[in-house]
Amino acid sequence: MKAMQLRAISRITPGSQPLCAVELPPPAPTEHEVLLRVRACGVCHTELDEIEGRTPPPRIPVVPGHEVVGEVVASGPGATRFHAGERVGVGWVHHSSGELDENLSTEFVATGRDVDGGYAQYMAVSEDYAYPIPEGFTDVQAAPLLCAGATGYRALMQCDLRADQSLGLMGFGASGHLTLQLAKHLHPNAPVCVFARERQSRDFARRLGADWSGGVGERPPEQLHAIIDTTPAWRPVLESLRSLRAGGRLVINAIRKEDDDKACLLGMDYRDHLWMEKQVVTIANITRFDLSAYLPLAAEAGIHPTTTVYPLAQANEALVKLKTGKNTGALVLVP
Ligand SMILES: [Zn+2]
Repeated sequence: MKAMQLRAISRITPGSQPLCAVELPPPAPTEHEVLLRVRACGVCHTELDEIEGRTPPPRIPVVPGHEVVGEVVASGPGATRFHAGERVGVGWVHHSSGELDENLSTEFVATGRDVDGGYAQYMAVSEDYAYPIPEGFTDVQAAPLLCAGATGYRALMQCDLRADQSLGLMGFGASGHLTLQLAKHLHPNAPVCVFARERQSRDFARRLGADWSGGVGERPPEQLHAIIDTTPAWRPVLESLRSLRAGGRLVINAIRKEDDDKACLLGMDYRDHLWMEKQVVTIANITRFDLSAYLPLAAEAGIHPTTTVYPLAQANEALVKLKTGKNTGALVLVP
């Protein structure tokens, strides 16, 4: 099978080729696993963290990709849940403890980092960590739901918003544009304010129903009950804390932060940024329960992912595009 493989940690710059096109034997499904023919795989910011070494794979080479939509083509011994031809998705959790807090478990194994993922024509996964894809989504539309959408769902639940309490989204990439749509479905009367560096992202947010959009350092019309930060930087954390109301909660939905602007944290002021019982929590990984709950909810909410498609062989171009932040919505590879 054709696959794009990570063989060395490197910094992604315009024109760089961090992944190698390779020919590999398709994986054989082991006990309770299904073999998928990959139909689409999303490109997630976490791939940049893997390639650039902020959350490096424990072993290389490895095939990245953890927003996988595929068709079941074979089942390993004891796997009975799905039949050949069924369409399923795979997310960041390849397998874990099976407990409700399996996202925090030492048994957590990440798809496309700790084991081979979906930047390939085939991949194998435990049938317990494969999820039926609702019919209304195309393969390409469904791919970003499996991480960008699902972690946004987990972050929104962590915001613990009541009825019409206001929400902020700091950063507006693949996750932000899906979380905005989910928030508008679950809390139709709650104002949603979007902060984004690029003007085209702010305009995109308004078109998707944001009540206000502004730059990272701008203040919203009112202080907010909760803000979800999906950026890789530190200054948005300070700006978010400043825009929270008393008792508000900042939910950081990022697996790693980059160090480029870390020095700005020395400007943190206790009174302005933290006092008045403001809270900071983080989102770590995802559980199969999140994915099982989110996918039907995304269908019910009528979420419409905006996507840009690249052929699998152009995964490097897609990664550079994501790194430079010039896209709107989600990037998806098709084998
Ligand atoms: Zn991801």
